[in-house]
Amino acid sequence: VMPEIDGKVEFKNVSFSYEEDGEIILKDMNFEVQPGETIAFVGATGAGKSTIINLMTRFYDIDKGDILIDDIDIQGVKIASLRKQIGVMMQDTFIFSGSIADNIRYGNLEATREDIEEAAKMVYADSFIREMENGYDTEVNERGSRLSVGQRQLISFARTILSDPKILILDEATSSIDTQTEILIQKATQAVLKGRTSFVIAHRLSTIRNADRIMVLEAGEIIETGSHEEL
Ligand code: ATP
Ligand code: MG
Repeated sequence: VMPEIDGKVEFKNVSFSYEEDGEIILKDMNFEVQPGETIAFVGATGAGKSTIINLMTRFYDIDKGDILIDDIDIQGVKIASLRKQIGVMMQDTFIFSGSIADNIRYGNLEATREDIEEAAKMVYADSFIREMENGYDTEVNERGSRLSVGQRQLISFARTILSDPKILILDEATSSIDTQTEILIQKATQAVLKGRTSFVIAHRLSTIRNADRIMVLEAGEIIETGSHEEL
């Protein structure tokens, strides 16, 4: 079991291919990320952004090198306890059949209604939820058909705030949303990244601008790194 972590993440000479003797997808990758830092990954399709995430969460094991969290080699950590430390927000938000409150609570069974509402407020979801017929008790189905794409994202942000992972992976959605919701999502994104070590596969210019560091990937290598002003 991993103890309470600070959230430092290191890649040391990491090389990886999906198939044995196959194409090398990540080539001797090295970086160190400090607790609380926000990293934006940018790069063309196939550059290796998702692969980095797959390795950090141990959906695949690396061939060469080490990935360390707080100086602990993740190879020696139980996958379940590793994933407890890492919050992952993928592009399509997972909504299940139940109330809005249940959807925010998700695995955090000990969370009170107050905690849930607090989390929703932090990501600017509280006001649209209150406007629904039964507020936090409004029932939604798996397809989340009563929620807009942007609202679904805000729910998933609230869920993440509640579970409070030290390390966060965010694969930013590309779907187009109206300007009003876009502004909310931008603010909510900053709220959810705050205080965590965050890796964002970034599609929003605002996220890239706000990142502490941008890593530009090309064919499995980091070809540039720096802040938005530096690059
Ligand atoms: P995108 O912007 O399209 O999501 P990406 O930067 O996330 O691209 P990856 O998904 O990391 O790129 O892919 C990197 C390389 O690895 C690509 O050449 C891709 O074809 C290959 N690849 C990805 N997943 C697999 C897999 N499961 N098996 C074999 N090859 C894979
Ligand atoms: Mg990808």
